[in-house]
This record gives sequence, structure tokens and C-alpha cells, in this order.
Amino acid sequence: MKVKTQVYRIDSGKPSEKAVNAASEAIIDGKLVVFPTETVYGIGANAFSDAACREIYIVKGRAPDNPLIVHVYGIEEALRLGRFRNRDICALEKVWPGPLTVIVNGRGVLPDSVTAGLDSVAIRCPDSSFIRKVMKKTALPIAAPSANISTKPSSTKGEHAIGYFKGKVPVIIDGGESDYGIESTVLDLRSFRVLRPGAFTVEQIEHAFGRKPILGRLAEGSRSAATMISPGTKYRHYSPEKPLFVYEGGIGSINGILGKFAGRAAFIGSDESCRLLRGSQVKTISLGPSRSIRKRVHRMFGSLIELDSMDVSFGVIESFPKDGIGYAAMNRLKKASDHRSFKDSEGLQKLVRNI
Ligand code: AMP
Ligand code: MG
Repeated sequence: MKVKTQVYRIDSGKPSEKAVNAASEAIIDGKLVVFPTETVYGIGANAFSDAACREIYIVKGRAPDNPLIVHVYGIEEALRLGRFRNRDICALEKVWPGPLTVIVNGRGVLPDSVTAGLDSVAIRCPDSSFIRKVMKKTALPIAAPSANISTKPSSTKGEHAIGYFKGKVPVIIDGGESDYGIESTVLDLRSFRVLRPGAFTVEQIEHAFGRKPILGRLAEGSRSAATMISPGTKYRHYSPEKPLFVYEGGIGSINGILGKFAGRAAFIGSDESCRLLRGSQVKTISLGPSRSIRKRVHRMFGSLIELDSMDVSFGVIESFPKDGIGYAAMNRLKKASDHRSFKDSEGLQKLVRNI
């Protein structure tokens, strides 16, 4: 069904009252709102409304067994939804608001459409002025997954979210670019295991909680890991329409390898790596300077969306360093590429033959 969408453009640091009021009214009315957060854009509803949360699944095309993250104003609100140990509350006081989602046992106050019937709940306190104002005004927790159609790359700019949801939800808030451009980290506080690496790094978890989290194959992005712990991890994710391959070899060889595919391939990488392809017919998408890993990760999802609009038959993306926020980016790339990576010319030829 076609919905009339009102788009509000805001300064994400100082959102207009008009936009806050429109979003708050929609949430109270049981409607959906697409809004910016510091990680990526979210598509949110009143977390206590079963009907509104069901609508999120329909609009996103999301599998019904993939639970939603509930956004709260602060620790006090979190304590009403889930059961926390005192030492974890102390750590979260240092971390929130911020890009860390935690899984705890629920108190049974949220509808099954939020938790997908699990006895656990995922909770995060976002550091984004707009959604904080809406939560304060409505005094409601907001269930919100990332604002993308399921399987597609997440929205890191208003225009991405508008592209996905115009005509499908009544209110879209365009706050420009998200700060991080990658989703929150999901940490299960019961097992102290990272279920999804994200904007809050493993190093930051260790610093805040005083111990190292368990990483394991789920955090690495493995397909075969124990997916029942976090149902969402078993689905195809973050994928452009065009086949994507991750380049894990030495960057000095990139021209020699991709030259043969001029006209067919697009390369996504650092400014410096893209410069190596100057003079060849290979199209490039520059993510930013090689030294600025945060900037490059920030533009990653946007580059996957851009790849789909290019007249090429596949994309090749340069891998990221495997620590800090690069660890989270590699988790997304493994899924976006369906675990297809190569190190040399032969490896790429094999992948291209199978497209
Ligand atoms: P997104 O769809 O981007 O909002 O991601 C939310 C992630 O959190 C998905 O991978 C979900 O499977 C995961 N998640 C949400 N609630 C739970 C939960 N109760 N237990 C484990 N994982 C969860
Ligand atoms: Mg998502």
C-alpha cells in the first residue's frame, strides 16, 4: 500500500521542534518513523505496540525470527525492559549513550514481535540528539532495526533511507550523514560474547568492562557459526545487487589484476589505491585517505549502494585492517560479498567465471 511520506530535513545536532513533534506524534499513533542515529539510519516504532512493530517487518521484508533492537533514553528505562547485573550497569553508565547494544534476559514486558519470541532482549541507548528528544517527549522505548530493505546495505545518509522508504512510511527524518556509518556492536552480556562487531570496538568493550569479550566465528562473520544465538546473523545481509568480491592481496598488484576487466569491474578502495588505477578503464569509488580508517568505513555502505547504480558487472573492494572499527567493517564485507574474496588474478578469474 502506498503511504504519503513527509520528509523533514534537520541539522542532526540541533533538530527542529517541528520534526521532533511530527516523529513523536507518529510514534504515539503507532506509525513508523525513519530517523538518523550516530551509527546508521533506523526505522522505528513504539516498542510496546505489537501492531506497529509487526509493520516494521512487513515494510523491511524482514524475516519474522530476526528480533529488533530496542532504543531507550537511559539506564533507568533499560532496567524496566531487561535484567542487568550491577557490575554491567556500572560499565554501561560509562558507555551509554553510545553505539553498544547489549543482550540481556527480558522482563517479559515487550511484545513477541520485538523479541521474536526469545526470552532475551537487545537494548541500546543511542547518542543522537533527534531520537533522544523523541524518546524523552513520548516517554516510550523505540524498537528500531537499520533502515534498509532486508539484505540491502544500511542507510548512512538521508538519501539512502528516502530511496528505500519513500511511499512506505509516513515520516522520514533526513539528518544528513550518520557519524559512524556502521551499525552498533551487539554484545551478549550473559555470555560476554560479541554477536555482531560494530561501531563500539572490541578494545573499547575491554576498557569499559575490564575484561575481553569472546569473539568467535559469529563475530568474524562466519556463515556456519552457532546462528541460533543471534537469529539475524544467518540471513543474507548488506548486499548490493551486483556481485562483490573482496581483494585481500597486495595493493601494488591491483592494476595488473583489474586491468583485464576494464569496463566490467568497479574498484572500491582508499584514495591512494584508486590512484593506482588511473589511466586504466576501471571505474573507481574512493572511500577516503588510506590512513583514515574511520572515514573509509563511514563511506563503505554508501559505496555499495553506488556500485548498483554503475554500469559494470561486478565490484571489487579493498579489504580493511582487521582491528578496531576495521574488524566490524570486515564482518559486513564478508556478508556483502557472500564470502567471496581473492588474492591474485587467478582467484578473481575463478570468481568472475561463476557470476
Ligand atoms: P539490525 O537488523 O541492523 O537492527 O540488527 C539487529 C541485530 O541484533 C540482529 O542481528 C538481531 O538478530 C540482533 N538481535 C536483536 N535482538 C536479539 C536478541 N534478543 N538476541 C540476540 N540477538 C538479537
Ligand atoms: Mg540491519
